[in-house]
Amino acid sequence: MKSSLYWIGCFIGALSCQQPDRSASVPQAEYAIAIHGGAGTIVKENMTPDLENAYREALDNALTIGEDVLKNGGTAMDAVEQTIIYLEDSPLFNAGKGAVLTYDGLAELDASFMDGATQNAGAVGGMQIIRNPILAARAVMEQSPHVFLTGKGAEQFAIEQGLDTVPNTYFITERRLEAWKQTHPDNPPPKTGILKTTRPVTDYYGTVGCVALDRAGNLAAGTSTGGMNDKRYNRIGDSPVIGAGTYADNATCAVSCTGHGEYFIRYAVAYDLSARMAYLKEDVATAANYIINQRLVEKGATGGLIAVDHNGQIALPFNTPGMYRGYARPGERYVGIYKEE
Ligand code: ASP
Repeated sequence: MKSSLYWIGCFIGALSCQQPDRSASVPQAEYAIAIHGGAGTIVKENMTPDLENAYREALDNALTIGEDVLKNGGTAMDAVEQTIIYLEDSPLFNAGKGAVLTYDGLAELDASFMDGATQNAGAVGGMQIIRNPILAARAVMEQSPHVFLTGKGAEQFAIEQGLDTVPNTYFITERRLEAWKQTHPDNPPPKTGILKTTRPVTDYYGTVGCVALDRAGNLAAGTSTGGMNDKRYNRIGDSPVIGAGTYADNATCAVSCTGHGEYFIRYAVAYDLSARMAYLKEDVATAANYIINQRLVEKGATGGLIAVDHNGQIALPFNTPGMYRGYARPGERYVGIYKEE
């Protein structure tokens, strides 16, 4: 005959086994959304009050668009899509209109999209004429047997899907053109494959991303970018690479990255976050902080990420002076630019 203490012990043991994940102990948010507009050398000294306000307003508007979808019972995928369309159409960010320019003075766009419920994903790279690359990435996921299409093939597919096309000049803003003219050497591209620029590497960023948790408990993530200034040879960064710039799994988190893409690809940053949560049982904030502020710093990589887990917990770490960012949950709204806020 077992003592009653034995049975109480078993009961407590069973309860603690049901909650092996630390993040499961935090209150469940009904829905949650987080966004970024890129990380980099974003400091108050280089910002005018008007420009700062414009960024804050754009981030706030983007959150409202996504939050409205989620509030009304829409899917995380729709919230991510609608939010990123707004950010792509805004000339402030390095995605869609306002993208940075390649060495040859063109806008070349990359985007990716992932559904945490099914682990389906779609991505496009090196597109020059599709107005909203995020729609093309979602179309690859939903309407093709593939995950990643690039260049002319990606554009042809997007056109077949009925997506809007624009001339490449639509993406090119005065601000980006001036920046390009200032730093761009007048001489023709050197024949070596070495990317030469006078611009510090942390000035490049401005990618946009969105992650969301909907009322049904599904996660989704998307990222869209013009890549890095002066990029050459059809360079593609981490943003459209599933597992590097974007990842979503209902069991762990949805994540979108921004930063020096080559490092984010090498260290499979987006998947690494999900893997740490799955295998090490780390919560989203601990895992995200470790990757951005320890692992990447040790490797000399700059950037940040946004992530939301299946409970609606949010992490927004970055190791640069600033990151355009924000999140919303029922009754909560946050927008930030600089480190200390
Ligand atoms: N990660 C992007 C890239 O390397 C750049 C960025 O985040 O701004 O293409």
